[in-house]
Formats: sequence, C-alpha cells, structure tokens
Amino acid sequence: MFGRAPKKSDNTRYYEILGVPKTASPEDLKKAYRKAAIKNHPDKGGDPEKFKELAQAYEVLSDPEKREIYDQYGEDALKEGMGGGGGGGHNPFDIFESFFGGGGFGVLGGSSRGRRQRRGEDVVHPLKVSLEDLYIGRSKKLSLSRNVICSKCDGKGSKSGASMKCSGCQGSGMKVSIRQLGPGMIQQMQHPCNECKGTGESISDKDRCPQCKGEKVVPEKKVLEVIVEKGMQNNQKITFPGEADEAPDTVTGDIVFVLQQKEHPRFKRKGDDLFVEHTLSLTEALCGFQFVITHLDGRQLLIKSLPGEVVKPDSFKAVNDEGMPLYRKPFLKGKLYIHFTVDFPDSLTPDQVKSLETVLPAKQPSGLTEMELDECEETTLHDVNIEEEMRRKQQQAQREAYDEDDDEMPGGAQRVQCAQQ
Ligand SMILES: [Zn+2]
Ligand SMILES: [Zn+2]
Repeated sequence: MFGRAPKKSDNTRYYEILGVPKTASPEDLKKAYRKAAIKNHPDKGGDPEKFKELAQAYEVLSDPEKREIYDQYGEDALKEGMGGGGGGGHNPFDIFESFFGGGGFGVLGGSSRGRRQRRGEDVVHPLKVSLEDLYIGRSKKLSLSRNVICSKCDGKGSKSGASMKCSGCQGSGMKVSIRQLGPGMIQQMQHPCNECKGTGESISDKDRCPQCKGEKVVPEKKVLEVIVEKGMQNNQKITFPGEADEAPDTVTGDIVFVLQQKEHPRFKRKGDDLFVEHTLSLTEALCGFQFVITHLDGRQLLIKSLPGEVVKPDSFKAVNDEGMPLYRKPFLKGKLYIHFTVDFPDSLTPDQVKSLETVLPAKQPSGLTEMELDECEETTLHDVNIEEEMRRKQQQAQREAYDEDDDEMPGGAQRVQCAQQ
C-alpha cells in the first residue's frame, strides 16, 4: 500500500466537486461549499451522494494540513494514511456528522432544519410483572431521569445563541495528526478533539447559558405510565417512542420496557394456558372430590368430579376459558389445566384389606394350580428409586461407549474409507 508513486490526476477531483480553481482561498472554498451544500441538500431534494462528496471535499480542502497532502499526493495518500495508520475505519458518515452535527452548518449560515440527524440510543429497562398483572392488566407509574434540551438556551448552550468554531479542530470535532514515515508515506490518525469534546464548537465563559452551564441539556424527572395489557407475554416490549435522552441535532431514541414475568407460586403459564398442580387422596380419586382454586383475579373456582368418576394418578383435566386472556382479545381465554397426583396410603391393615376386597373388583387369578405354584421359585421385591437407577445406568453406558470409540477409531475410519472406494 505504502510508497506507491502518486498519480498526478488524483489531486484535482475535490476542487472540481466544489467548482473552484486550485488556487482558491479558504474563503472561496467556504463560499463554494456553502452554496453547493444548500443546493444539494437531501432535504431539498438533492442527491445524498453528491452531498456527501461535497462534505468530503470540503473537509479535506478546508484543513490546511490535509489540503497540502492532497495537493501533493492526491486522494489516495489521504486514504492510505487512514487505512494504514490504525486510525479506525474511514467512514464518510462519521466525518459528515461530526462536520454538521457539530454545528458546522450553523456557522455556515444554514438552517437547523437542513441538518442530517443522527439517532440517539434506545434505553431498555426490564420490568418485573406478576402473573396477576398479566391476567388482570394494570398500569405502573415509573419515575425516570433523562436529559432534555435546555429550555433556556434551546439547546445552544449559550446566552446569545452563538457558538464559536472550536479553534482546536476548526469546527470538525476531530483532530488529525500526521506523521511522515518516509518519502510518500504518511500516517494519519484521527481522534475526537479534546478541547471541544468532539462537538466542534466552543462557547465563551461569559456567554455560557446559566441553566445548563453550556451543556445544552438538563436532567429532568419524568413519570411514565406503563400500561401492562391483559394477556401480554414474558419478554414482550412496551415502547415509548422518543422518550430517551435528548441531545442537540439528534433524533431522540425510545424508552423500551421489557416485561419479565415473575414465577407464580401456584400457576404455571404456557402460552395462553395455565397449569396448576393438585394432589388427591386415594379416597378422593376413587370416590369423588371437590376443591376450590383461587384464580389470579381472586375469583373462587369450584372444581369437582362427576359422580362415579375415578381420577388416575398423573392425569390431566382442563377447565375451558379459565386460562390467560389473549393479548388484544381479552374476552377469549386459554384453558386451565389441572395435573392430578394421587396420594396412595403407604400400607393397609389386614382389616382394611378385607373390607376393600369386598367392594373392589376381584383379584386376577394366577391360573396355576397349587402344585404348580409350589414349583415356582420364591422372589423378594425391593423398593427402588427408578429415576436414580436409570440415570446411573445411562452414565455408565456413555462411559463405555466412549471407551470403545477410542479403541475402535482407526479401524472404523478404515471401514468407511473402504466403503467409499
Ligand atoms: Zn474542537
Ligand atoms: Zn441552556
């Protein structure tokens, strides 16, 4: 990249863009740029590309140091200096924004309306809500602090409304340092101006706005009313457009609340449905039950079995229209599922067994004679934690499979290769 012989034709294009001779004075350049920039402004139907080119050409030619490099080595020298110098990406928009956003246009007499505006950042807040909030819907008032444009100076930062071009950076907001590395080799580094903090302008101490102290913005407490609508989901966003921090020449970003549904002690939510656990005694499971569920809005639902109905362990039943309301269609609701667990007694007395046998269906006969049974081998049943045992066996199987893989790897690969030939 470095050290390439500079081409003579490279160092006239910027002058052509601005329509000035190579001998143009800084004053001529300023006038030419101002006229062309107003004429070609995208807000007035101008071509954005052309507008960008103008800014670029002016940015270079208005800087005595850059102009000298350009005149001597052309456009490429500036570009190479940027690319090779570790000064970061040379984005024309950055220059353009620091140029205009920094008040350059104001200095040149343009209207504030004509500025290309950057967009401020969105501010994202998590907002914890209960399942009750999402079922019933509610509004929450939240107090936030944000920056707003100073009303006293209208965001100018000065009493007179005037600002001077920062002398440190000629109003560009950026400073460029150039190092000559050798013949035709230039390293150029760009960094925000330390004197104006990259704004490109300075305000004299006497002219500083007393309300914002020249900062252009002041902090303001603002209360936002967040409406949590019925049926909203976990992670759903509620957006307040243009309520984030204000800054001059910036389209204000949004404040975004992201709903975070808290765990509920009794209800689980899956989409628009609700799930609740309920344990029945064996007697209830066999002979019928009724119980009350207090819903998320405080209503008491009476849940009862049909006469003669038997509820089996680990079974589900559902109540229609008692799930979550649908978002924006709150009159429609999901289902309320009840998961039943049956609590069996651990043991029974011989008397209990006897009386149960009289009412329950008869035992299944073994189909064997007394003699045949005598010939069978006796066994003993043990209690097991089946999940625990299965897990242990699976882990063991994985370990063995891993060991085998290790051993057989070369042979296995060989077989695949043979098959492919
Ligand atoms: Zn500066
Ligand atoms: Zn002010």
